[in-house]
Amino acid sequence: MNLKDYQLETLAVRAGQERSQFNEHSEALYLTSSFVFNSAAEAAARFAGEDQGNVYSRFTNPTVTAFQDRLAALEGGEACIATASGMSAIMALVMSFCSAGDHIVASTGLFGATQQLLGNIMSRFGVQTSFVSQTSVEAWKAAIRPETKLFFLETPSNPLTEISDISALVAVAHAHGILVSVDNCFCTPILQRPLDLGADLVVHSATKYLDGQGRVLGGAVVGAKILTDEVFKFLRSAGPTLSAFNAWVLLKGLETLKIRLEAQSANAIKLAHWLEAHPSVARVYYPGLESHPQFELAKRQQKGGGAIVAFEVKGSRAEAWKVVDHCRLLSITANLGDTKTTLTHPSTTTHGRITPEQRLASGITEGLLRISVGLEAVIDLQNDLDKGLSLIL
Ligand SMILES: *Cc1c(COP(=O)(O)O)cnc(C)c1O
Repeated sequence: MNLKDYQLETLAVRAGQERSQFNEHSEALYLTSSFVFNSAAEAAARFAGEDQGNVYSRFTNPTVTAFQDRLAALEGGEACIATASGMSAIMALVMSFCSAGDHIVASTGLFGATQQLLGNIMSRFGVQTSFVSQTSVEAWKAAIRPETKLFFLETPSNPLTEISDISALVAVAHAHGILVSVDNCFCTPILQRPLDLGADLVVHSATKYLDGQGRVLGGAVVGAKILTDEVFKFLRSAGPTLSAFNAWVLLKGLETLKIRLEAQSANAIKLAHWLEAHPSVARVYYPGLESHPQFELAKRQQKGGGAIVAFEVKGSRAEAWKVVDHCRLLSITANLGDTKTTLTHPSTTTHGRITPEQRLASGITEGLLRISVGLEAVIDLQNDLDKGLSLIL
C-alpha cells in the first residue's frame, strides 16, 4: 500500500499488514522463536544480510514488523523499531547514540524511571545528563556543551502536563548538530507528530495509549531509517525486543487509537473544567484549559489536550489520600492511557524514588493527584472523586 495515498484513520487499521499464503483478514500472530531456511546457501545469505528474510525473533518477527510499520506510518516516520517496554526503548535510544564522555540535556519533569536511567544509571557509564526547565528554550541552549549529543524531551510532561516547544528546541539543537528525541507517550501521533516538527526520533511507551487497554508492555523508537538502524543493531544484540504476542495485541490497539484518544480527551476537558470549579481543588493542570501557562503553545503544537489531568487539592498528603481512598470506581494504579480511568498520587508512587529536591524542582507536591481519564461517563467519575473532595473543606 502506498502510505502517502491514505489518511491516518486508514493507516491505523491497514498499514503494515502483509498477508501470508493463507490470505488471513486479520493480522497473523507468528509465535516462533526462529525461522528455517530452504538450503545452506539461503541460511548463509540471511546471516550475511544479503537476503532480507527472518532469522530469529530477537532480530525480526513478521508480527513485530507489522506493528513497527503501522506505527511508523502513523508517526510519519521512515522506520520504527519495537522494544519490550517504553523504558527499553529509551535505554536503546541512549545506548545507540551516546558513548562514555557524551552529554544529554533533558527536562526536570521526565517520567520517573527515565530520570533514574539518565540521572543515576547512564552516569555510571560516563554519559552525563543536565536536567533543565521543560519550558525555557534559553535553559536548554545554556546547557549545551561541546560533547552534547542528545536533547531528550517529553511533552506534555508527566504529571504536570508542561509543554516544551518542539520546533524551537529542534532549531537550537540542530544548530549544534544535536539529535532531538521526543517521548510522545501522552499525545500519541493522533494529537502530536514530533517528526513533522523537525524532531529526529520519537519514543513510545506502547504500554500506554497504543495498547490503551492495560494488557501488555511495549515500546518503540521511530525516525529516519539511518537512525533506527542504529537502534536495531543495539537491540538485536542487547535483547529487549518486543514479543510477537505483544506486537499482535498492539496492532489491534492501534486500530482504535484515534477514537479512544478523541473520546478520552473529550472526557478529560469536561472533568478538568469540573475540577477547576470545585471548591476543594487549588489548581488544575491540563493543556486544554485556558488557565494552562502554555495554552497557546499547546493549541499550536497539539491537536487536543490529551487525557491526562493533574490537580492539587487544597491541603497536602492527607487530603490527597482522602480523595484516593474514597474512590470506588477510579482504579488506584500507576498505569495510564487505559480505557479505565486511573488515579495516582505521584509523590508517593511514580515519583517516590526521586529525591525530595528533584520532586520539588519538578513541582510534584504532596497534594497533587494525576488522573488518566478513560471512557467511563464523566458524571460517574465526578461523583466518585467528589466523595473524597467534599470531605476536604
Ligand atoms: C510509562 C512511561 C514510560 C515507560 O514505559 P514502560 O512501558 O512502562 O517501560 C516512559 N515514558 C512515559 C512518558 C511513560 O508514561
